[in-house]
Amino acid sequence: SLEGISRVPDLDASKLTITLANSLKPMPAPESLVFGSVSTDHMLVVSFDPSTGWSAPEIKPYAPLSLDPMSSCFQYCTSVFEGMKAYIGPDGKARLFRPEKNMARLARSAGRCALPPFNENAVLTLIKRLVSVEKRWIPALEGYSLYIRPTIIGTRAALGLAPSDHALLYVLVTPVGPFFRQTPAKPVSLLAVSDSVRAWPGGTGGHKLGLNYTPGLLPQRVAAKKGYDQILWVLDDVVSEAGVMNVFVVIKREAGDGVDVVTPELDGTILPGVTRMSVMELLQKRGTQVAERKVTMTELKALSAQRRLSEVFLMGTAIIVASVGRIGLEGGEGDLVLPGPTPVADAMKKSLLEIQEGRVEFEDWSVIC
Ligand code: PMP
Repeated sequence: SLEGISRVPDLDASKLTITLANSLKPMPAPESLVFGSVSTDHMLVVSFDPSTGWSAPEIKPYAPLSLDPMSSCFQYCTSVFEGMKAYIGPDGKARLFRPEKNMARLARSAGRCALPPFNENAVLTLIKRLVSVEKRWIPALEGYSLYIRPTIIGTRAALGLAPSDHALLYVLVTPVGPFFRQTPAKPVSLLAVSDSVRAWPGGTGGHKLGLNYTPGLLPQRVAAKKGYDQILWVLDDVVSEAGVMNVFVVIKREAGDGVDVVTPELDGTILPGVTRMSVMELLQKRGTQVAERKVTMTELKALSAQRRLSEVFLMGTAIIVASVGRIGLEGGEGDLVLPGPTPVADAMKKSLLEIQEGRVEFEDWSVIC
């Protein structure tokens, strides 16, 4: 039972063993990097067995995994993950951005899939060790970083449907460049979609489960064929997320005395993004309170008609912050166009990057490995 699981040994970072690769891979030219496509020299692996608990963690040469074909993750999608980045600061040290938030979300995601619990601090310590081992893979260029993908999969080898009492936790890293290489970045185009849904009330959209990403694959391909970059997920007129990013809207006040910033509330259908939380806190520090509330397509269209829709911008670990240039409406209504400028999005992108890259200290957000 899951109760029994808590009595076996927890994940212990002090038991780490490191086996280095005999030969190291050549580094690709940073400008040629395609997001998430390059594997590095090493990975971190820990396994869970209900009778012996979490194994001694290993950092070892990057290699294929060998899994029983009956494994729970293949059949019942017991697969959860995180997305984080390590940046090189001006001091040459590798640093993570608010990594404890990702560990907490990973634990919550694992819990939602009935995967075994783990010590969040231990996993963070291990990730820092892996980043240190793979430090040469972080391009020391502005806008470049090492993307980190902690993953937990259920490895119970049986077809009977049950919580997976065996698991594998592994962490991969991959060097990445800026999501948009053009400067200034080209605004993103969105296609509003409501006939397919990513997440629904009572579902799993508020967690980072692999299965949440499958429903978006086909609509994303359709949107791309129609010439749009990403999907704007709309559920019963309510805006939720765009692609795999959170959404902020900047609205000019009717009285003309400034702007209000709003973002869809965390109603269980929206992933609580670390970037979203950080942008809210940064704006608050600048005296702008972000309202978390329902945002509807009807409202966006009305604001646009009144010339009060100032900015729509997206955020997430991979993209950081991106402004939206147009939203394709459903039912042949054409495009809702955001002409710019985008001062709020630009300021947030700048602030986040300088904290992430360690050029500006802000609270305890940037954590040295
Ligand atoms: N929404 C979804 C569905 C995502 O997958 C992500 C990326 N993790 C985000 C939003 C942004 O979250 P974060 O800022 O933590 O990267």
